[in-house]
Amino acid sequence: MPLVRWYRDMRWPLVLVLALAPSAHAESKVPDHEASPYDAAAVKAQVAALADPALDGRASGSEGDAAGRALIRARLDALGLSPKEQAFDDDAGHATANILATLPGSDADAGIVIVGAHHDHLGHKHLGANDNASGVAAMLAIADALHGTQPRRTIVFAAWGAEERGEEGSAYFVKHPTIDLDHVVEYINLDMVGSYSARGWVAAMGTFKKLPATAMLEAGKKAFPRLSVGIGGRAERSDHEAFCEQGVPYVFFWTPDDRCYHETCDTTDKLDAAHMAQIAALAGDLVSRLANSKQDLLASRAKLGCFGR
Ligand SMILES: [Zn+2]
Repeated sequence: MPLVRWYRDMRWPLVLVLALAPSAHAESKVPDHEASPYDAAAVKAQVAALADPALDGRASGSEGDAAGRALIRARLDALGLSPKEQAFDDDAGHATANILATLPGSDADAGIVIVGAHHDHLGHKHLGANDNASGVAAMLAIADALHGTQPRRTIVFAAWGAEERGEEGSAYFVKHPTIDLDHVVEYINLDMVGSYSARGWVAAMGTFKKLPATAMLEAGKKAFPRLSVGIGGRAERSDHEAFCEQGVPYVFFWTPDDRCYHETCDTTDKLDAAHMAQIAALAGDLVSRLANSKQDLLASRAKLGCFGR
């Protein structure tokens, strides 16, 4: 749910006019986990499960919040990633949790890449399909694509609680880390990735010129000619902030949604699932590049920090 501050150094590509037909796949409430990790119908089914009216929009501390977390844990469990909950109370005193799952890397000294998305939304008939069932579904698709591999660096998959109350879950994690934060070389944030068709582009914020992830994304996006990717720009008000304050660089994938942002019309049927699946695949490609890069990303973090200065 970020408010975005645009900076002069942004370099927007030409917005491509896309003529993609919407996915004609039948909707299913149960994700089809036999499909490819980045299958649009499977990703949409995962969003539908989290944004089901029975969960009433997953307000922090609600029954729907707990039910949403159970779905996420079950999926990570099925992938063999042994998710753990980090329980905390939000600012209203309601119990919620972050979910964390680890894919161990082969080189314990090479650092850690975190891929995160907030799982909560506003509740009270605000179902939050785009904000942020879409980000969670993208994170789970990346976990699906990478589980069973052994990257060089450890990858942590995270679903944060209480973001809508002020990025509380990610802030709690940074205050009470379950891993060595000094070893985190990159944080990938996925928040609202299901409304590409609104403007015809996805922002990849945090990609400042000198940062290693920026060049990796520039290389990776060549395989996604149907996506117009906005490189550059600084983001505010999402879960990357707590990491950035620690000097951890981030890439924040986000699509604008003027129509249904924090409205009751943020429902699964509005989702641009075809592009969302591609955004998940692009983010997954970047995670893989970061996790396997031979560059000394710990040294570059120490030198350049979050803003590439
Ligand atoms: Zn959000």
